[in-house]
Amino acid sequence: MTPRKQGQQPRRSASPARAKSTATPSSQSPSRPTLTAPLAPKPQPRRLSRAAKLALVDEICRRFQKATPDPRCELYYKTDFQLLVSVVLSAQATDKSVNQSMRDAYDHGFTPDDVLRLGEAGVLKMIRRIGLAPTKAGRVVELARLLKERHGGQVPSTREELEALPGVGRKTANVVLAEIWREPTLAVDTHVYRVTRRLGLHDEKTAEKCELRLLDLVDRKYLPQAHHWLILHGRYTCKAIKPDCEHCSLKDICPSM
Ligand code: SF4
Repeated sequence: MTPRKQGQQPRRSASPARAKSTATPSSQSPSRPTLTAPLAPKPQPRRLSRAAKLALVDEICRRFQKATPDPRCELYYKTDFQLLVSVVLSAQATDKSVNQSMRDAYDHGFTPDDVLRLGEAGVLKMIRRIGLAPTKAGRVVELARLLKERHGGQVPSTREELEALPGVGRKTANVVLAEIWREPTLAVDTHVYRVTRRLGLHDEKTAEKCELRLLDLVDRKYLPQAHHWLILHGRYTCKAIKPDCEHCSLKDICPSM
């Protein structure tokens, strides 16, 4: 395990029971950098001034913090390497499917050396129920090889080093930086993008622009937890097809209402 910065605590998995994907198709893969029209959410919010957005986002975070003071990643993992692998595997797949495929392997080890011993065929057998399994099996093996070659088998702590690894785009790097290193990042997946757009906080077309807009609005004291709050809200309340506005804790302040 990589030594942690002083005062940083490792984050370990919470229950995966109701998990769905944290993946944003457009942000997860470096080759698909934009959030496209099919992801454009409804309902549409009324336009807000910057002052109104700042006040709104503060109230949203205050409510989320009160309801869920310590939100957790729903991917199951025991080591930094396992987290990195799971985030890569979760691209265009559900967290639940990743957890189901990897839990047993993670409980029995699953280090970079284990992956190199398994080889691509062995990893593929393990992850065959996860979307894009053949491509991801190759990435996981290459990930293990490069981590050994460049970082002594440890997960690096900088965005540049992370994004230089196969299958690691900006969103994956943000998740790892937040989850392992407690950096004040805000990974934008499809849930975060949709929820914050419905809340009138941005009208951006790409995950990266959305992320930068949100980082400009969200107080650092709410980072990195805001990422988890928004994902959970998107998974269970402000859902893509049928947002449950009636039971939403934000319905009295949501500009889409
Ligand atoms: S009221 Fe809640 S569920 Fe409905 S659009 Fe607003 S944030 Fe989403």
